[in-house]
Amino acid sequence: MLSSASNRVLTFTLQFSSSLKFSPKTHIDYRPRSLHSSIMSSASRSSPREALLDDSGCGGPITLEEWQRWGCISPVPAMVNAVIQDLKLLENNIDAHMVFGGNGGKLQGDFKIQEDKKHRAKYETLADSDKKFQFYSARQIACRLLGSRGYLCQKCWLPMEDCMCSNVKPSSLWHGIKFWVYMHPKDFLRQNNTGKLLWQVFGVQAATLCLYGISEDEEIMWNAFKDAGKAKVWCLYPNHNNAPKTVQDAFSHQTSADMECAYSLTNKDRPLNFVLIDGTWSNSAAMFRRVKEQAKLAWGEEDIPCISLATGASAMHKLRPQPSWDRTCTAAAAISVLAELQLLPECSTHGLDKQAEAVEDALIVLLEVLTTRRLRMGRSITRKVRHSRDIC
Ligand SMILES: [Zn+2]
Repeated sequence: MLSSASNRVLTFTLQFSSSLKFSPKTHIDYRPRSLHSSIMSSASRSSPREALLDDSGCGGPITLEEWQRWGCISPVPAMVNAVIQDLKLLENNIDAHMVFGGNGGKLQGDFKIQEDKKHRAKYETLADSDKKFQFYSARQIACRLLGSRGYLCQKCWLPMEDCMCSNVKPSSLWHGIKFWVYMHPKDFLRQNNTGKLLWQVFGVQAATLCLYGISEDEEIMWNAFKDAGKAKVWCLYPNHNNAPKTVQDAFSHQTSADMECAYSLTNKDRPLNFVLIDGTWSNSAAMFRRVKEQAKLAWGEEDIPCISLATGASAMHKLRPQPSWDRTCTAAAAISVLAELQLLPECSTHGLDKQAEAVEDALIVLLEVLTTRRLRMGRSITRKVRHSRDIC
């Protein structure tokens, strides 16, 4: 149960006041999550467990229903099911069970040794780098799915005993905006991922998961972008080759007639699309490169418009009440986009401040759950003195 504001793990409040100054000097680049914070980057691990059977009880492939319950909107990726089939075949052929540990997606024991050899051999047979990359992504996702079955809540991606779903209040996102959570496979089904909060709050149509390297997902996202047009796609990424714009730079210079057109009801099928790169900082460069490559395929030019969050230090320090807080997490980036748009007169009537607050509330719930969980396991909530041994 969530306690009152004074007892919250985090007591920050985003200020949506007009005193927030936008100046190129105060830009803070939105950086996908770094690995230097504690709670947000070190999920609570559990003891090894065997892969569970699927819904049908036969240990078969992922069904569409199971896939979409995890938050995906695409058809089940063919390559993910192919990997699962290979894993099952291997399990039948050798006398070792699939055992998962770590954060859910890591194979362990004898099976891991055999599977390592097998997937490396398969990788070598793949002719081009894109196929290799897609296989890598599919394998990551397949292992995470199998390792999380029956263990994680499919909605909040937390171990079932810590399910936070009943504490998340849904909100509708203004129809003029759509978020795309472009997620690295290693972040899929991570307990401490914050991108997932966006569709928990806004629903999967308003905040859509797109898994990096999964062609079914990327196709849906890029079809939507092509349909919306380049002017309606913004990537939150500090693109240093091409000076990123602040929300205000990007939108406030438009005449009110343009804004009216951009946001009008008649245009509701083509909202402003914001791509949030949801991966560690070290993975995000490759992810952004792929966005640029696909932009080139779609529009013939690589330079995808980028937004840098301009929220100045005066507001940002409030986002960091304790060292474990990472101001650059994906949910915080979405909060900032909404908060900055709210400051534009043209957008002030869409309740974006309330929508930002809804994400903030969900973030607080998540941090509280992760903190409680770690403490319950006897782990420190700061990384430095964290116990290295898995005890759960
Ligand atoms: Zn849940």
